[in-house]
Amino acid sequence: MSSDAASLTKAWARGLKPPADLTISQWADHYRLLPKGSAEPGPYRTDRTPFWREPMDVLSSHSRVKEVYIMKASQMGATEAGVLNPIGYYVHYDPSEILVVWAGEKMVDKNSKTRIDPMIESTPVIRDTIVKKRTLEGGNTTRLKLFPGGSLNVGNAGSITDLISSPKRIAIGDEIDEWPDDLNGRGDPWTLLLKRLRTYPNAKAVAVSKPSVKGRSKIEAGYLSGDMRKFFVPCPHCGEYQVLLWSQMKWEKSPSGDRQVWYECPYCKGKLKNYHKELMLKRGQWRPTNPNRVSKRVRSYQISSLYAPVGWTTWESLVEQWLDSQGNVNKLISFINDELAETWEEKSQQQDWEVLRGRKESWRSGEIHEDILMLTAGADVQENRIEVEVIGWGKRFEHWSVEYHVITADTSTNNLSDRCWTELAALMTKQWSHPTGDNLYLSGICIDAGYNTETVYHFCRGYPQDRVLAIQGSDRLKAPISRAKAVDHIGGKHMRNALFHYEVGSSFLKSELFHWLKQKPPEGDDSFPFGWCHFPQDRDDEYFKQLCAEVLQKTTPKDKRSKMKWEWVKIRERNEALDTHIYARAAASAVGYDIITN
Ligand SMILES: [Zn+2]
Repeated sequence: MSSDAASLTKAWARGLKPPADLTISQWADHYRLLPKGSAEPGPYRTDRTPFWREPMDVLSSHSRVKEVYIMKASQMGATEAGVLNPIGYYVHYDPSEILVVWAGEKMVDKNSKTRIDPMIESTPVIRDTIVKKRTLEGGNTTRLKLFPGGSLNVGNAGSITDLISSPKRIAIGDEIDEWPDDLNGRGDPWTLLLKRLRTYPNAKAVAVSKPSVKGRSKIEAGYLSGDMRKFFVPCPHCGEYQVLLWSQMKWEKSPSGDRQVWYECPYCKGKLKNYHKELMLKRGQWRPTNPNRVSKRVRSYQISSLYAPVGWTTWESLVEQWLDSQGNVNKLISFINDELAETWEEKSQQQDWEVLRGRKESWRSGEIHEDILMLTAGADVQENRIEVEVIGWGKRFEHWSVEYHVITADTSTNNLSDRCWTELAALMTKQWSHPTGDNLYLSGICIDAGYNTETVYHFCRGYPQDRVLAIQGSDRLKAPISRAKAVDHIGGKHMRNALFHYEVGSSFLKSELFHWLKQKPPEGDDSFPFGWCHFPQDRDDEYFKQLCAEVLQKTTPKDKRSKMKWEWVKIRERNEALDTHIYARAAASAVGYDIITN
């Protein structure tokens, strides 16, 4: 044994050991210091986030609970309570073999350096317990810390060796919804991890995560396997205990233009303000909502940002975020997952083309509805055809698929006098008559330059660049359309009159479109929902099949070392109508529609 470790052991023998039956929250209140640079540095106070007291305490040595699942919002201090405090406790108070796991090498590296190391450095009893690097070669690395009586391993959820290396007593999984679904055919990494605990009768496992998609979320599966505890807090007016629900959040603009935000108690209709939370949280209680699953072995908890302590995320800022996310499905998903700590429900695994076909209306292709404000188009260029869709845009992203053309011809000749290009050119000068008596032209068109790039560029050069855009789809872009990039360069600078090229956020726009398409039609005299798409009577089945040709799937990255990704995957051979639709949407964005429609 090294001299440092030996002197520590002697110190414990002299009676420096903490009292028996200490819980994790007591340990944290007594020993844990939050590092400089954290939001609230200094001694950890469980009273600041009282809802973490019970989840921490059921993870303590003497508790009979074995598995804990915490489905939580971001910015709630869950990593401190559910990951770092248990680590500190099982390093210092009840030394054990500990494994903490994150998704991907980057997260392992980042969290070791920005969470674990600062926690060790700032908390004296831990700093003194961990064996110093100089006394034991390799004893304190990013991935492994040794201390008398145990070790702390930091692992990657994508690495089989990390997960099954040696038996562990304490397993901690952070952000498990980012973990892979399957590890080299060995199954779910969380299940693999639980198997490693079997050697220890008094083992503990805790998983902490924001949720993701309903039915595929790992933390939701854990939450549903437990007693599904929710935090009940008393109304400051009538005293009735209740779960804070987003549906009770109310807001209105005062005559002066300020937004008034309050929470309406469903029992007494009293107005609760953000500052009331201080007392409500103090008196809060976790209560199981799943009586069929009450067991001594598994506990599960869910908590949203509505419970953020005073001084953290406010109700006002949540309302702000909610309003900002309307009509933007990506923002809406993060609001539901990250703030409400609820899973996002894809209404079905895929969009049913027959349902969309059933929505055809009485108007015919080429007719212009009186609510249409502008027209845009998207063109997909294939080897033997060009497919083009013309879309009319109204207010609030309501839109009409005005025309769909399949121009069959060889596109590879690079000769713009060939029929496919002249027919496309004819659309540029075409006029559509609006019921008001005006004529409409195409305000913008996006043409896919992914295939036969030079010819598409050649075609685009004949038109104003703010109206005819050469584009390419990008799955990474988190916006409808990118900034312009010049195609023509001389000596590193783009030429005067250079052609510009744009990226279209394909995945981003597909998510938006599928969210719009899955909405229910309005009842009675209600107006159409945000982003509603209208289809003409004479549109053929093939169009609807193509529009529904892709589904969003969680895919494992090739290197298995990175995080899981969501990707749009083709389920039918042809998907041109989906592409033309989102290209026309990108064209609308490029000509400024997103700004005026709101
Ligand atoms: Zn009340």
